[in-house]
Amino acid sequence: MTDPFVAQSHILHRAFGQRPENVVTAEGIKLVLESGKTMYDATCGPSVSVLGHHQPKVTEAITRQLNQVAYVYSGARFTAEPNEELASMILGSRPGGLSKAIFVNSGSEATDAAIKLATQYWHERGLPNKSHVIARKQSYHGNTIGALNVSGHTSRREIYRDWISQNVSFVDPCYAFRLQKAGESSDQYLQRLRDQLEAEIIRLGPQNISSFIAETVSGTTLGCLPAIPGYFKAVRELCDKYDILLILDEIMCGMGKTGTMHAWEQEGIRGPDIQTIGKALGGGFVPLSGVLLHQKIFDALAAGSKGLLHGHTFQAHPIATAAAVAVQKIIKEQDLLKNVTKMGRILQKALEDMIRPLPFVADIRGRGLFWAVEFLADPEKGVAFPKNSKFCNKVVDSAFENGLNILGNLGVTGDVHVEHVIIAPPYIVSESEIR
Ligand code: PLP
Repeated sequence: MTDPFVAQSHILHRAFGQRPENVVTAEGIKLVLESGKTMYDATCGPSVSVLGHHQPKVTEAITRQLNQVAYVYSGARFTAEPNEELASMILGSRPGGLSKAIFVNSGSEATDAAIKLATQYWHERGLPNKSHVIARKQSYHGNTIGALNVSGHTSRREIYRDWISQNVSFVDPCYAFRLQKAGESSDQYLQRLRDQLEAEIIRLGPQNISSFIAETVSGTTLGCLPAIPGYFKAVRELCDKYDILLILDEIMCGMGKTGTMHAWEQEGIRGPDIQTIGKALGGGFVPLSGVLLHQKIFDALAAGSKGLLHGHTFQAHPIATAAAVAVQKIIKEQDLLKNVTKMGRILQKALEDMIRPLPFVADIRGRGLFWAVEFLADPEKGVAFPKNSKFCNKVVDSAFENGLNILGNLGVTGDVHVEHVIIAPPYIVSESEIR
């Protein structure tokens, strides 16, 4: 039944039966609700507020920029100081050969831009047929039509199927906990995934494929799931062998959450050709996402049309980039990635000690301050919950009652029913807050 408040509100909420909690103030890792209740924001919203709530230096940077230049159209002719500064901060050391950035407003826009840039790259190189994208099942890269097209999240796709399923196909994700067969070694599992991807490339014909897209550490759909060692090396090798661009989606797992600025730094690869970032980039003080491009993409465009066939009215909004510069400076000056690693170990141990022994807990996994607990109806026998159980919602509701805001995800993603909750506290979290 629809809550009377929700029925009367002019804002359309996602779950009509649930009255949204009004957050009246927020400080550090805590939210204060209108009811007076104080909550621990243990996932930074959906993994966004990585400096917690209220950072005077960010407020100052936003105010300064508002007073200086509130808006310029960054799509043509103009730029603003913080746009350039933010790009230099991220790309100054040329991580993995990435050297150019486009800043947009949301992660979905970043995915759209990444797919479009990959397409433009092949056009500029005189290979316009290279337009097909290989993505992974149980993946999520955003909600817009373009981003949804490459997301293997079946329930989100279902009613839009006439709009999507264009030029895309899906291979298995690297999900050893559920998809590695009994008796299969890690090497054999890795080989199976490699073979499957290579077979799909050959089936489609590399001359028709633009890119392969994957999250480096899968967030919402598979619950903070890192790939097994060697997986991304194999993916990178196949992309190189068949001249396919590698797009890594680090919108949720990137910008420090796993303990390194980019999650792919822990995969022993040279890096992606295109990378998307978001959420932690602006720390939630402003909406901001981005696309990072390898120098070779720029070189091809520079030698060809000398322009970008993509843009938004509010791209690289100076208020957003000014806030993000302040966020990234705080992370650097306070050496917060060290804290991510240190507190991550404490969080992992706390989860192992306190949560692992509880019923239905099947797996605890993650990196840095990006952790998930996966539930099964029978962890011993590997039996999943029925699709309508909504078990993780019950966990989230119970945590909420006890003053802890965590993120739950139902495995409504097709072949494998996954139920998990995410715990991803901010980079400023202390040991006592974790406890
Ligand atoms: N990609 C990943 C991995 C995400 O987790 C999300 C959002 O949760 C998106 C893309 C889409 O980002 P946005 O919600 O900002 O459009």
